[in-house]
Amino acid sequence: MGLSVIKLGGSLLTDKSKPYTMRKEKFREIARELKESMDEMIIVHGVGSYGHPPVKEYKLYRGYTGKENLLNLAKTQSIVFELRLEFVRALQEEGINAMIFLPSSQIVAEGMKIKKICIEPIKRFLEMGMTPVFGGDIVVDTKMGYSVCSGDLIAAHLASELNAERLIFATDVDGIYTKDPKKDKNAKLLKEINLENMDELAKLTGSAFTDVTSGMYGKIETIRKYKNDLKNTEIVILSMLKEGNLKAYMRNMKDAKYTKIKIK
Ligand code: ADP
Repeated sequence: MGLSVIKLGGSLLTDKSKPYTMRKEKFREIARELKESMDEMIIVHGVGSYGHPPVKEYKLYRGYTGKENLLNLAKTQSIVFELRLEFVRALQEEGINAMIFLPSSQIVAEGMKIKKICIEPIKRFLEMGMTPVFGGDIVVDTKMGYSVCSGDLIAAHLASELNAERLIFATDVDGIYTKDPKKDKNAKLLKEINLENMDELAKLTGSAFTDVTSGMYGKIETIRKYKNDLKNTEIVILSMLKEGNLKAYMRNMKDAKYTKIKIK
């Protein structure tokens, strides 16, 4: 089956509209579907309403601004850890050999790009049959002191460095639509988009899509940074809000819903 890197969005694991709310009732279901669909995998999760509120409140996105903010940074990491631990326990309860890897202990960034990652422990534990679990974190940054390292970035980086067979972004919508499907009922799901045709896509989806605050746009931009190293990787965006869709995609079933991201 080959290696899958799957990013589980913050929208899927938390309710982004309310600070510090996990969708705990979904964890076991998501874990079960992962167990039934995948063999060799790395899981990367977003931090959603666990990470964004403290990062905003303490302005951690600015990077190192002085020692007085370090305790806030430390506390933020512990808050996010509550989500990590809860989710990893659900994975383990469904029989996944889930093992927490902390980006802050493994990654060095340079201007919010991953410059170095300690890959050997990941490779070796994977070979043994473990499932490394990463999540968004704050990492040291040679330009900013420290910076936010998103789950999307970690997932794209790991998929390219480990030459993954597939890179899956699981979120709360079926893929990329012509408009934000939460705001526009007439939005249509795009079966495939080509990174080379971004201008066309911007026209199709309107200015909303190119708004930097839009989650989907950020994902595409992140994938674009790695496009030269992801040529052999199948990249899809799909929903895991309802059980069965990931399984359907993995089994090549006709009713699977997703958007495929083509590099060429
Ligand atoms: P996650 O936290 O799961 O990684 P994001 O919240 O960053 O995901 O991005 C997914 C969200 O992007 C969706 O919930 C959707 O409301 C929004 N979105 C904005 N524009 C679009 C679009 N054109 N197609 C699909 N989703 C869109």
